Amino acid sequence: MSKKNDLEAYLGKDRVKEKVNLAPYLTMKTKTIARYFFQARTREDLIAAKKASLLLNIPLILIGVGSNLIIVKNKLDFLVVVNKYIHKEIIGREGDSVMLSVSSGYPVGKLIQETINEGLSGFEYHLGLPGTVGGAVFMNSKWTKPVSSFGDNLIYAFVIDNKGEVKRVEREYFQFSYGFSILQKTREILLEAVFKMRKSDPPILKETAADSLKYRRLTQPTGIYTSGCFFKNITLLEKEKHGLPTTSAGYLIDKSGLKGLRVGNFYVSPKHANFIVHEGEGETADLLKLVKLIKKKVKEKFGIDLQEEVIVI
Ligand SMILES: Cc1cc2nc3c(=O)[nH]c(=O)nc-3n(C[C@H](O)[C@H](O)[C@H](O)COP(=O)(O)OP(=O)(O)OC[C@H]3O[C@@H](n4cnc5c(N)ncnc54)[C@H](O)[C@@H]3O)c2cc1C
Repeated sequence: MSKKNDLEAYLGKDRVKEKVNLAPYLTMKTKTIARYFFQARTREDLIAAKKASLLLNIPLILIGVGSNLIIVKNKLDFLVVVNKYIHKEIIGREGDSVMLSVSSGYPVGKLIQETINEGLSGFEYHLGLPGTVGGAVFMNSKWTKPVSSFGDNLIYAFVIDNKGEVKRVEREYFQFSYGFSILQKTREILLEAVFKMRKSDPPILKETAADSLKYRRLTQPTGIYTSGCFFKNITLLEKEKHGLPTTSAGYLIDKSGLKGLRVGNFYVSPKHANFIVHEGEGETADLLKLVKLIKKKVKEKFGIDLQEEVIVI
């Protein structure tokens, strides 16, 4: 039996594809060929994929909408799983709040629009954030005005651990901080998260969300191939140490004179210096060269080592 057949014994007949180009599944649209490819549509699909990966010894990579992933390898000898597990339900009510369970493949944009229309407050600042709930919890995706993070209202969740077992974990387990959740270390798979949402008026939520989106459109380029902010902002400690006015990595790149800097088909956005833009048909070797150049110039100018915020594989 081929490995594809072995995988299909767990994942279902004709559900595993071979040698799939991942460009359509990554917002940066770089080309990488996945050896095995599977779209998970249910909680059971995700559990089966994890178990198959363990039993057949094939490493698994989970993709939400690939808006924070940079794959620089031309080929991945992995099982690549795209998360299309989409489900949401109110599972409890407590005074002025509701407990909302959301599956990890739920598109964040859809979730935000729906909760705003339903008068549920908690995600409105994030309007315009691409990705899935799984990716947003993994990254604890954040917004600046006001400072807020996707995990702020998470109460508990279900994850698949590295033995393929499902476990319930409480909020504290995630160790949320700016741009961080424990999933980045444990590599466990989020299945569903339960959020406490406050009841509010849809018109108020719509206005807040519209303000956030307006600021996003003002500061970020749109309609391009990118993975958003490429580098992490520096810490407050570094800001103080270097006497800088801000922690923004974009500021450091801008002040190093790098807006518009180009290698091959990749360039630094003239609108937001922490966005790297891909024109299409680019070689990832050029992207790596550009990243190296940005780091070198920022180090020369400020003595600071920029760290990638995106997940690089
Ligand atoms: C135009 C643009 C604007 C952006 N704006 C912001 C912003 O304002 N704030 C911000 O913080 N980020 C921003 N981002 C980055 C990105 O959108 C977020 O980090 C997003 O939450 C990632 O979700 P995703 O589903 O695309 O994750 P992916 O990129 O698919 O995956 C990212 C990582 O999460 C892991 N992962 C995905 N799903 C799960 C799961 N179910 N369980 C465990 N691990 C999982 C993946 O394996 C991978 O390691 C932006 C990106 C773009 C392109």
